Amino acid sequence: MPAGRRFYTTRRRSLVTGGAGFIGSHLCERLLAQGDEVLCVDNFYTGTRDNISPLLQYRGFELLRHDITFPLYVEVDRIFNLACPASPIHYQFDPVQTTKTSVLGSVNMLGLAKRLKVPILQASTSEVYGDPSVHPQAETYWGNVNPVGPRSCYDEGKRCAETLFFDYRRQHDLDIKVVRIFNTYGPRMHPNDGRVVSNFIIQALSGKDITLYGTGEQTRSFCYVSDLVEAMVRYMDTPHEETGPLNLGNPNEFTIRQLAELVCALTGSPSKLVEMPLPENDPRHRCPDISRAREVIGWKPKINLREGLTLTIAYFEDILRKSGKA
Ligand code: NAD
Ligand code: UDP
Repeated sequence: MPAGRRFYTTRRRSLVTGGAGFIGSHLCERLLAQGDEVLCVDNFYTGTRDNISPLLQYRGFELLRHDITFPLYVEVDRIFNLACPASPIHYQFDPVQTTKTSVLGSVNMLGLAKRLKVPILQASTSEVYGDPSVHPQAETYWGNVNPVGPRSCYDEGKRCAETLFFDYRRQHDLDIKVVRIFNTYGPRMHPNDGRVVSNFIIQALSGKDITLYGTGEQTRSFCYVSDLVEAMVRYMDTPHEETGPLNLGNPNEFTIRQLAELVCALTGSPSKLVEMPLPENDPRHRCPDISRAREVIGWKPKINLREGLTLTIAYFEDILRKSGKA
């Protein structure tokens, strides 16, 4: 019997840290729908009860309010480590806590995986590439990160977490899976987290100016959340030899200005595009090379930007209607 398995159930039990967040809640839902039990661990730093309310219908769902910078003793069959604020506004609000979550949180979750002898997946990020001098970014690129800038708490925290994962592999032969997630969007993004997709949709729906930082010529590649979650679930099931790092994202690249124009077209909004100062250390380009993901898990994103934005716009329309702002 695997270490994490209890004798009265044959269902696989997955721990999802950060399960009340945007991506985490979709991952929990996907695992529950396929019959797993899910233990969601979250300190509600950026996660919300609304995100997990659709999960309460599943008998296999359990919630534990806990901060992963402190040790955790639970019995599970595998660990998805997603806990960490992800938007620049959120991770820069308390940068010391951000680094602690990535570094101490990883030490605690790796220790748990080691005791239980179970696989552990780390939600790393394209931010480990910083402002990349190689384009598109393959996993072999080591990055161009400022270690002392306002984004460093996140970028360097995630880089240190990757180091810890690979050292646990080398020292303890732990079954690690490190995925580097590129910009992901969809329903349950936090409306006030300042990320570009949620900002533009809310601005367009409420007829406010669309805030282009800089000239809007910087690029990003946007992956719809269900595509990302599918890849994470597939990657967790790969053999022990497969450790990553593995890029996960949508390789279709857009300028931020193109994104703004598409959001306006899809919402029929009269909003104007206005240029604002570009934040410090804002990466100029970001686009994943997903050749490895295609090869290892036979994956590529299915939802294009127009389809994904349409679903996300419908979600935000509903949020604004409920809050009386539309
Ligand atoms: P999110 O902010 O919506 O979710 C993060 C969750 O972690 C929240 O529920 C929050 O309350 C929880 N959390 C934060 N600190 C914690 C702590 N110390 N203990 C317990 N819980 C804690 O962000 P998201 O967009 O869902 O991102 C999830 C993961 O994916 C993060 O690790 C992030 O770095 C990574 N990621 C996301 C993106 C993206 O585009 N959304 C891109 C790259 C990487
Ligand atoms: N951005 C923008 N207007 C906004 C919010 C963001 O032009 O209202 C830009 C931001 O400067 C960056 C890009 O959109 O170049 C993506 O920003 P986001 O915060 O979503 O993600 P990240 O910078 O982490 O990729």
